[in-house]
Amino acid sequence: MFSFSTEQLALEWRGLLQRFPLDLVERVGGLAIRHQVALADHFYACLLSDAAASKLISHEQVKTQLHSSLCGWIAKVFAARDGDDLKPLVAQQKHVGQVHARIDVPIHLVLRGARHLKERFAQFIRDDGAFSEAEQLEAARLIQLVMDLTMEIMGQTYSSSHDRYSRTQEAYRLFAVVQNVATERQRQRAALLDWENKLMFDLAVGQTAALLPRIGASEFGLWFRHKGAHAFGGMDEVAEILKAMQTIDEVLIPGFSREDATPLERSTRLRELRSLAQAIGLGLEAMFRQTNELEAGRDALTRLLNRKFLPVVLSKELAYARQHDTNFAVLALDVDHFKSINDTYGHEAGDLVLQQLAVLLSNNSRAGDYIFRLGGEEFMLLLVDLDEEAALRVAENMRQMVESEQFDLPGEHKLSLTLSIGVAMYDGHPDYQHVMRRADRALYSAKQGGRNRVAAARD
Ligand code: GH3
Ligand code: MG
Ligand code: MG
Repeated sequence: MFSFSTEQLALEWRGLLQRFPLDLVERVGGLAIRHQVALADHFYACLLSDAAASKLISHEQVKTQLHSSLCGWIAKVFAARDGDDLKPLVAQQKHVGQVHARIDVPIHLVLRGARHLKERFAQFIRDDGAFSEAEQLEAARLIQLVMDLTMEIMGQTYSSSHDRYSRTQEAYRLFAVVQNVATERQRQRAALLDWENKLMFDLAVGQTAALLPRIGASEFGLWFRHKGAHAFGGMDEVAEILKAMQTIDEVLIPGFSREDATPLERSTRLRELRSLAQAIGLGLEAMFRQTNELEAGRDALTRLLNRKFLPVVLSKELAYARQHDTNFAVLALDVDHFKSINDTYGHEAGDLVLQQLAVLLSNNSRAGDYIFRLGGEEFMLLLVDLDEEAALRVAENMRQMVESEQFDLPGEHKLSLTLSIGVAMYDGHPDYQHVMRRADRALYSAKQGGRNRVAAARD
């Protein structure tokens, strides 16, 4: 997606400020500082009157943080002068947009808050008494332009983050549908070629048009119409391929039966057919290429989920918990002294151990739970629909199970290992990174406490 660079936006911001007398810009900035708390209060009250928004910000920590960061934001945005380096300020707006996307704040709510803020600010200007009527108008215009620009910058990163997020979500869905991408790709490529060869041969031997093989009824066509189109649903190529298939079957192939067709018409038709078949092949390749990206969603060593799907899965479960008033737990797992296993037995032995550990974790979790390998010897479990007591019990069972397991090493050797586990419950915070950070801190304290233990998040 096209987006303006930080430099461009900073230039634009500067140009905007230059349109106003410095004195006016400074007086508006001064008022922003003086009234920042009242303005933030107002913004906040507006959000709370919306049921969806008030759910988002019901978390105590968010309440306090949002209010103070909003105060800071108001003061900073209106403190900007045309001589300043405005790039950090632009970068900040971009960051806010990203956070909004991650938390899934509906964009209309942000705009709504902004609208109320502008209105209230203009009111303060009027009530101030120090602005002439002409200045009041100018100040209101300044406020309007600055606020609109910040919203535009936030909106830009908001939508690109959202875009990326929904593509991952799409990939995740696909991941569940197409089991073995590599095999399917080979098979369908071959099936498409088969159809084309057969058609060309039949045309060459003068087969009547009614008996020419239709792509829609071919192996490839059947697969694509019934499975591929669904599995790749959402990709642009799907509609293009379906349309190309239809043109081939309903327009081009029947045209070969026309008795009065000149050799030139016939060869034009053949070329068209060729190029449509090629387009289908290319579209297919492109779709499979995109699915390879999702193959990358599985960790190559352990076949567990990797980091890529973390945002999708966590936001999905977070929304579920919020909607259904259920709870979930995040477990951060790290193998103790894993480096010494590598050092003593070699990296390959280490890999073998990680694979066995992955199987053990999978076999001992419920179907609704998720297991990620975050990298190295670090794993993350998301346990759904349970309370803290149950989560701690699961963690403790895992710890004991791993402790008592004998892991195979190359050549008859066996090895024992231990895990440290940090457990954090979802606490209503709308940003999924929050619960992950808490689990991480708990893991850290389990390590500090002597390893081979479970620690619950205490914050
Ligand atoms: P601690 O108890 O503090 O967790 O100690 P540790 O040795 O497990 O922790 P540290 O993070 O210092 O070391 C992790 C080691 O994991 C470092 C690296 O050699 C190893 N490692 C990381 N990724 C892989 C991998 O994919 N395969 C193998 N075999 N080893 C890996
Ligand atoms: Mg470790
Ligand atoms: Mg580690």
